Amino acid sequence: MNREPKYYKGSLDGKAPLTHDPLKDIRTRYDAVVIGSGLGGLTAANILARCGHSVAVLEQHYNYGGLATWFKRRGGHIFDVSLHGFPAGMKKTCRRYWNETIAARIERLDSIRFDNPQFQVETIFTREDFTRLLVEHFGIERARVEAFYGELAKMDFFSDSGETAGELFERHFPGRNDVHRLLMEPITYANGSTLSDPAISYGIVFSNFMNSGVYTFGGGTDWLIGEMKKELARSGVELFNRVEVERILVDNGQTRGVVANGREIACETVISNASLKSTVERLVGAGHFSSAFASGVQSVRLNNSSTQVYMGLGEGASIPFLTDLLFTSTRERFDSPSLCDLHGESRTFSFYYPKTRPGSTRTTIVSSMNAHWRDWAGMDEASYLANKSRLEADTVAALERYLPGIRSQLTHIEAATPRTFEFYTQSPQGASFGTKFEGLRYSMELSKEVRGLYHAGSVGIIMSGWLGAANYGVITASKADAFLRSLEKVRS
Ligand SMILES: Cc1cc2nc3c(=O)[nH]c(=O)nc-3n(C[C@H](O)[C@H](O)[C@H](O)COP(=O)(O)OP(=O)(O)OC[C@H]3O[C@@H](n4cnc5c(N)ncnc54)[C@H](O)[C@@H]3O)c2cc1C
Repeated sequence: MNREPKYYKGSLDGKAPLTHDPLKDIRTRYDAVVIGSGLGGLTAANILARCGHSVAVLEQHYNYGGLATWFKRRGGHIFDVSLHGFPAGMKKTCRRYWNETIAARIERLDSIRFDNPQFQVETIFTREDFTRLLVEHFGIERARVEAFYGELAKMDFFSDSGETAGELFERHFPGRNDVHRLLMEPITYANGSTLSDPAISYGIVFSNFMNSGVYTFGGGTDWLIGEMKKELARSGVELFNRVEVERILVDNGQTRGVVANGREIACETVISNASLKSTVERLVGAGHFSSAFASGVQSVRLNNSSTQVYMGLGEGASIPFLTDLLFTSTRERFDSPSLCDLHGESRTFSFYYPKTRPGSTRTTIVSSMNAHWRDWAGMDEASYLANKSRLEADTVAALERYLPGIRSQLTHIEAATPRTFEFYTQSPQGASFGTKFEGLRYSMELSKEVRGLYHAGSVGIIMSGWLGAANYGVITASKADAFLRSLEKVRS
């Protein structure tokens, strides 16, 4: 696949060399270098700087935010990439670790709809409303529903029974493929987990959502990242974009700096927001880890990737309120693998009405599907372009079922594929949600192998998505802060 040459990343057309040195103002040494500006990296950076450490964030892309990003297109279109929905916990995380201005913009979605051959329902995705649906629409006894919630509430990371999500559903709602679909499908789109993943990774994330519904940022991703940049500046974090970290330097089992855009920058601790596998295998090098750890990381499975179709309505065009989030499928029955099909029949539509960006009159619609890297990676250029066009056409046809005639109102249509996600984030195989569950252990134990090395990127299903990534940034920052303090103590 095509990849921009190093140091050119971020030039407007991706080809012309940069005309300035993105590292012009960099210091020679920091307490902490954060590699990558995803929500995990930015949150970790903000906390470490508030703790009094000198911090630099090095981001290879021209935009900050990682997958929490947006892009503009001619004609006044602004498209959000991953702002679809997150649990209420994001409000508390933002209030504590960012600021009240950001937290105050977190708003609950008004409506979430499901439309498939098994059921058509609308919900606000709270425990109360979900219970109503399960009891009244699906005919499940209330006591059974409560028992299911009760079991989920007791789940935690340290109590993995080895059961899968599919087995958990079958135990509580035997033979009810429709109920399994209602419970699993939205979570699969939110973090890539499937019926074969551990029940605890499902239970923890589902319970987070059930807390009080699905939330979004009023103002859009561009507003959010803009506010985060202001807060980072207040905390003293130095941000550098168009800077690719090529290596993490390790001496005698301890980090001593990074090489970025060909230049060495010294630091005591490195927090990598890049993929766990890239961090270990490419940036540090497997040789710096014990063989058991390195081979363990090698066997960690990546989560799936995504495709998206971004559709923008022209100025003055509008649609009636349909829902905020629509899970739609024409497949008769639910199974996890088909959600990643190249010619998939299941997708979500996120509707961004003008209310998304107060003051704006524009409407955009983004369709997302889960996808496999392997289906897209090997295509030659002609087949790749043909499949992108086919994806766009299929998506518009699916949307027309809900909004007849919408095609004539769209003035911009564009598709992203696993190759697009890989290109912009450097996540191997364009993984949208980090690694499968087994990756979490290796991510958390990095610093036991290399002193001063931490990971704060999507991993293990639980620590992915907007809330998971931000919270993981908090956990990692506290470990890195303790490490930096221990160094200070030794020196004083
Ligand atoms: C299509 C799609 C839909 C999604 N929908 C939702 C949703 O509805 N709800 C939800 O909660 N989550 C959703 N997510 C997931 C969510 O966006 C991510 O889990 C989260 O944003 C990941 O944050 P992160 O901190 O792991 O970093 P990432 O966003 O992965 O960012 C990592 C950053 O590191 C940078 N980087 C990597 N390597 C280097 C290097 N060597 N040098 C410098 N920089 C480097 C990258 O450029 C990137 O900016 C979705 C994701 C996708 C793709």
